[in-house]
Amino acid sequence: METRDSVLAAIGNTPLIRLRRASEETGCTILGKAEFMNPGASVKDRAALGIISDAIDRGELRRGGLVVDGTAGNTGIGLAIVANALGLKTVIVIPETQAQEKKDTLRSLGASLIEVPAVPYRNDNNYVKVAGRTAARLAREHPEGAIFANQFDNVANRDIHIRTTGPEIWEQTEGKVDGFVSAIGTGGTLAGVAAALRERNPDIAIALADVPGAAMHSFYTTGELKSEGSSITEGIGQGRVTANLEGFKPDHSFFIPDAESLATTFAMLKDEGLALGLSSGVNVAGAIRLARELGPGHVIVTMLCDPATRYQSRLFNPEFLRSKGLEPPEWLDRPTVVEP
Ligand code: PMP
Repeated sequence: METRDSVLAAIGNTPLIRLRRASEETGCTILGKAEFMNPGASVKDRAALGIISDAIDRGELRRGGLVVDGTAGNTGIGLAIVANALGLKTVIVIPETQAQEKKDTLRSLGASLIEVPAVPYRNDNNYVKVAGRTAARLAREHPEGAIFANQFDNVANRDIHIRTTGPEIWEQTEGKVDGFVSAIGTGGTLAGVAAALRERNPDIAIALADVPGAAMHSFYTTGELKSEGSSITEGIGQGRVTANLEGFKPDHSFFIPDAESLATTFAMLKDEGLALGLSSGVNVAGAIRLARELGPGHVIVTMLCDPATRYQSRLFNPEFLRSKGLEPPEWLDRPTVVEP
């Protein structure tokens, strides 16, 4: 019998898929790690498992305890799944501006939602700050414990990528990987995979693919935390050096406009059957840019973070795209009508 002990054992060990179009365009082998195949359908299942396991190991959580975090989407879904599997409860603080789809998904998983107005991080009522205060209060009230998952500044997030994602990529490519590219949300993925790969081969090229409105491309190229424009991409785009990013520096950094990531995302969907969210398009656009810098014949890996279905009302809504100055593809804008 080949079985998994629980849903937790189904997190990670995702396949590496050859991206045909990106590979043909560049003469490189561009591979996407299929994180959308995790139980919660995103890369954040790994961070959720890493953070909760670490808190249990340190004796901060017992059965019946609470996991609290400020998140709008994938991390909350990952936390709710891991918590349910371990007999824990989840409390998610979410900005009220977030898509209804995400709130519905979190409620369907049994998470308690606290909706707060969307205000910047420097404001005391920012969702991450409210989550921290709520967790501290619940920890005093609940004998089974309550933790602030704190995905941005809890390095258990980066550590699980050092222990799982990085070694998986190394083994799956038999050590032939030449480059790794990723966007930054918390920074756990990029800093963690970079640490694991650099330990095995210090010459591997590590690249950031950053989005408009984020400050990390500016930080790694000029030393200044400055941002420009805005992006419709969700789950990524960071304005500060989180604890997960401390001590990390990429070898290359690319600024990917939304028009480029959108075209890459829709091309993967139509030409390869890979229906993914926009952060995957940012990553693959970054992999293509790195391939052009390194030249033909290299093996480049990036992350396919989550599925297109999570963004139905935005990414697949021609009016929404146009309102952001982005051109929807023909097949989405004017679908072919076939008479029965
Ligand atoms: N893509 C999506 C869709 C995400 O939700 C996230 C996580 N915020 C990322 C990419 C980036 O991952 P990380 O937090 O590890 O930087």
